Amino acid sequence: MNNSVREKITCPSCGQTAIGLICRVITPDSPEFKLLFSGKLNVFSCASCGKSYQVAVEQLIYRDSEHSFLLVQHQPPADTSEYGIIIQEVDAMATEAAMLLKMPRPTVRLVFAREDFLEKIALQRRGFDDRLVEYAKFQLFQNTGGAALLPERHRLLYDFSRSDEEKLQFAVFDRQTHQVSAALHLPQEDYHRMALEFSVNEPLQKELERLFPDCLVSVDRLYPEGQSAVSPVERTADD
Ligand SMILES: [Zn+2]
Repeated sequence: MNNSVREKITCPSCGQTAIGLICRVITPDSPEFKLLFSGKLNVFSCASCGKSYQVAVEQLIYRDSEHSFLLVQHQPPADTSEYGIIIQEVDAMATEAAMLLKMPRPTVRLVFAREDFLEKIALQRRGFDDRLVEYAKFQLFQNTGGAALLPERHRLLYDFSRSDEEKLQFAVFDRQTHQVSAALHLPQEDYHRMALEFSVNEPLQKELERLFPDCLVSVDRLYPEGQSAVSPVERTADD
């Protein structure tokens, strides 16, 4: 557990303090990586009251140096006006790290929720361009339509546990209840056709860069700001 640091932790239920190994940086296939995907990263069981709790860190980083990929899960700020600052900070961090190491700038992504963190890692490891996946989500919202799938009410998340070589599976999450209300899929063939189309078409590539100009790559950014529920980041139930 080289990436973890011993720190004082406090049980939110009873206030009991303890020393725990806190992880802020995850590398592929490390012990922390396995903990992350089993939902046990930075999770502790209180010796006093027996309750389990997760210690929230301001920034959790996934760093895949081999593939030059950097992903940051940042704690959601209290005020939406701070999103722009966080985006700038994360983009600048990637640029500075690249300059310091005299390396090409890594692909950098920012998310504000654990499920998005897992989704981005799974997509990157399976060789998907997350910008195209977010674009595909946009099309699924447009084409599926109806009250069953609305961008202001639902989120689509890549379901890496159910996806196979033929289908990109998505779980439909209700933004208010935080429950999975349905599932839908996109044939992998459609994704690959779209990826090919983008790869050989410069105007389309430019369009993708225009749609996702920074590290916050989310379908929510493809909707005009202020339109119904869709802001650059996940909304909560009481928005
Ligand atoms: Zn406790």
